Amino acid sequence: TNSADSLTSRKAILTGLYFMNYRKPSKVQATALPLILKGHNLLCQSQTGTGKTACYALAMIHMVDVKLNKPQALCIAPTRELARQIIGYINTLCRFDGEICTELAIPGQIDKKSRMPFEGHIVVGTPGTVVDCLNRKIIQTEHLKILIMDEADNLLEMQGLGDQASRVRSRMPKSIQVLLFSATFSENVVNYAATFAPGAIKLTL
Ligand code: AMP
Repeated sequence: TNSADSLTSRKAILTGLYFMNYRKPSKVQATALPLILKGHNLLCQSQTGTGKTACYALAMIHMVDVKLNKPQALCIAPTRELARQIIGYINTLCRFDGEICTELAIPGQIDKKSRMPFEGHIVVGTPGTVVDCLNRKIIQTEHLKILIMDEADNLLEMQGLGDQASRVRSRMPKSIQVLLFSATFSENVVNYAATFAPGAIKLTL
């Protein structure tokens, strides 16, 4: 449909969308969200300004069972600034929803000695810190259902980050749904998708 109602089944999130003045899905949302909800892996070429953040934020929110206090959706971004921006965006979207909790996994955010596992449903972080959290069991993986990579081309291009991104993926449950958002279909991104997002539908939006 062509109204904001098609973006979410959670009433409080819809209220959030209306509060943010979203009246109908953007093109990327109208095209990608139905495919995501069907369970497809996705390799999505979309620039900033297309509404891709809302698209994958809503996908993550959709996956969450709020009664389960474990990470269920994970998003990785190439920089801590972007990770902060994404989590801020999700928190804004969830402002009328008292149940969905988020966690930020970036350098300086995780106590060096902490061993307390995350109880939030949605985790956003940078690859190195996410790997560290996985190693320390701060991020438990058994209930993760969806993995998002934003700015996948930038992420895979940076020295070392690509390896970390591969490490993150190999630690996820085998059946996890993978969505890659990228400004370009660079060789790195296409190769990563072939290995880690099997059967991904390629979209240019
Ligand atoms: P992004 O491409 O994720 O950086 O989003 C670009 C801008 O579009 C942000 O300011 C969003 O808040 C806004 N936006 C995303 N989806 C919608 C929508 N369905 N209706 C109106 N604005 C939107």
